[in-house]
Order: sequence, then C-alpha cells, then structure tokens
Amino acid sequence: MTAQLNPRGDVAVLVPAAGAGVRLGPGRPKALRLLAGEPLLVHAVRRLAAARSVHTIVVAAPVAEVEAVRELLAPVAPVSVVPGGAERQESVAAALAAVPPGPEIVLVHDAARALTPPDLVEAVAAAVRAGRPAVIPVLPVVDTIKEVGAGEVVLGTVDRSALRAVQTPQGFRRSVLTAAHAAAGDALTDDAGLVEKQGVPVSCVPGSEYALKITRPFDLALAEHLLTSGA
Ligand code: C5P
Repeated sequence: MTAQLNPRGDVAVLVPAAGAGVRLGPGRPKALRLLAGEPLLVHAVRRLAAARSVHTIVVAAPVAEVEAVRELLAPVAPVSVVPGGAERQESVAAALAAVPPGPEIVLVHDAARALTPPDLVEAVAAAVRAGRPAVIPVLPVVDTIKEVGAGEVVLGTVDRSALRAVQTPQGFRRSVLTAAHAAAGDALTDDAGLVEKQGVPVSCVPGSEYALKITRPFDLALAEHLLTSGA
C-alpha cells in the first residue's frame, strides 16, 4: 500500500540517491542495491514517509535510472523523482529546485542511511520549527582520532571530546538552504557545510545508531542484521 504524505505537513525531504556507490564494490548505483530483498532507497523512503510532518519527498536519481526509480517508488509513497548530478551537491540542488511552494522546512537525507528512524526525522524538523536555522544529527566519536601525514606517520592526536560524527537528515529553514546553494562554490560532502560558509549557526541534536551510512560491504551486513532484529 502506498503511504500517504501529510498535506498539512511543513517539511520537504530531499533524497540525493544518484551516487555510484563505488565503495560497496561493483554493481548497481548504491541507492538501488538490495538490503533484505529491497533497494536501500525503498527502505529510506518508507521511513521518511512514515514521519508525520513530511509533506513532500523529492528524490535525485541516477540520470539513467529516473524512470526506473519512479516505478520503484510509486507503490511506496508519492514522491517526485528528478535527475541527479555528477556531485552530491548538484543532486541536492536539483531536488531543491523541484520542491513546490508550501514547506518551509527542508531536510536533506542520504538514501544510503536507509534505516533512519522516522523519529529522528521528526526531531530534526522540530528543532528547525523551534527556530534553529540549521540542524544536524550527531553522534559522539568513540575512536581515538589521529592526524596523519606523508608515509602514514602520525602528526598528532585530535581532542575527541570536541568531535562529532555527522549524520542525515540535516534540516534547514528553506530560505537558508536555498541561499546557501545559490552561493555554493566548491562541492562539499554535506549541506550544513554550505550553510556554515554563509555564517549561519548550525545546531546539533542527538543522532541515531540506526542512521548509519551504508557505504561498505560490512555496513550492508550490519544493516541486514539490524533489519532482522526489528529496525
Ligand atoms: O558518495 P556518498 O556516500 O557521500 O553519497 C551520499 C549520498 O549522496 C548517497 O545517498 C548518494 O546516492 C548521493 N549522491 C548523489 N549524487 C552524486 C553522488 C552522491 O545523489 N553525484
């Protein structure tokens, strides 16, 4: 059954899903790799559609897969699908341009974080609604982090207490994300980075272990395990 989005919701979610997924090994574009028999993108969109504030979902798909992705997602939720770009940032910009008037909160969520709970989507949106211009979900860093130079020689140890691992969805007041993309220069790996460059404060909320980014074969195996135990 197709999930209904909330016509009174105030949140649009952009889902960049146009990456190749080279680190997962050879195969289909990453968002279309199977996790427990379904593409990562289907898992991700199903969870987004279950978040009650979500009004619109726009997916940026690999150019050659736009029609296939439309057909794939039609039974899951009503989503718009646009062609992605060569870099993640271009894919996000293409999806942002397709958001209809209405939602004033825009979340950007990697398809690769396929098991992200709807509650995390709501928590990020709620923090933007409460007045934060930009919000990111984060986890503490558990490993010791070292800076390494030429020849893999350690240059120093970074103070871990000041570090956070950043997840998605990242949430923004719509005008803030639009302005950041309009001013964007070099491609960055996340949208909060663009907003920081504009001098806009970016706030953290607690992330979720389930929002792990499925990047390498080990992550896929872990995600399969999490799904069978109820994620
Ligand atoms: O490559 P990376 O793991 O950082 O990709 C994060 C997300 O951005 C993935 O969901 C991927 O599909 C998406 N992406 C995209 N367009 C690109 C590259 C990556 O939508 N050109």
